Amino acid sequence: MIEATDNIKEQLTERAYEESHPFCYSDYKRVEANEDGEYKCPKCVSDDLMRELEGVGVEWGTDWIVEHMVKEEGEEVDTAELYRDLLDEIYEPIKFGELEYSPAMVLESVDTVAFKMGCNEYADSELDEGRLIELNGSYYSMTGITD
Ligand SMILES: [Zn+2]
Repeated sequence: MIEATDNIKEQLTERAYEESHPFCYSDYKRVEANEDGEYKCPKCVSDDLMRELEGVGVEWGTDWIVEHMVKEEGEEVDTAELYRDLLDEIYEPIKFGELEYSPAMVLESVDTVAFKMGCNEYADSELDEGRLIELNGSYYSMTGITD
């Protein structure tokens, strides 16, 4: 299950079509466009075609190709680490006399629940802004696709 902005989903689906080929499963062959630019199996004349991704497989639809591309090309990101960096960037260090502590470390140690909630909210907003893609519970950035 993939979560991303509509714009990102469209881009990925478009690429999934470009990188895969129509495929007739009954005749087990790739289908090229005919003179009219239509994809119909020359043998059984079916236009109800699967998609073939070379070296990967043959399946209905493009969702599986999109997932494959995100896993292959995307870089899995640790959202907790990004959230820690954000907290340390926007808040001043916590001071006790001479001692200084990172705001992220303090929040995470003092209130784990608040940290986790904040982290989830942060990941959601990154998703809404098109900076991350979520796939089966993991977050990915993808060059040329996420900002
Ligand atoms: Zn066919």
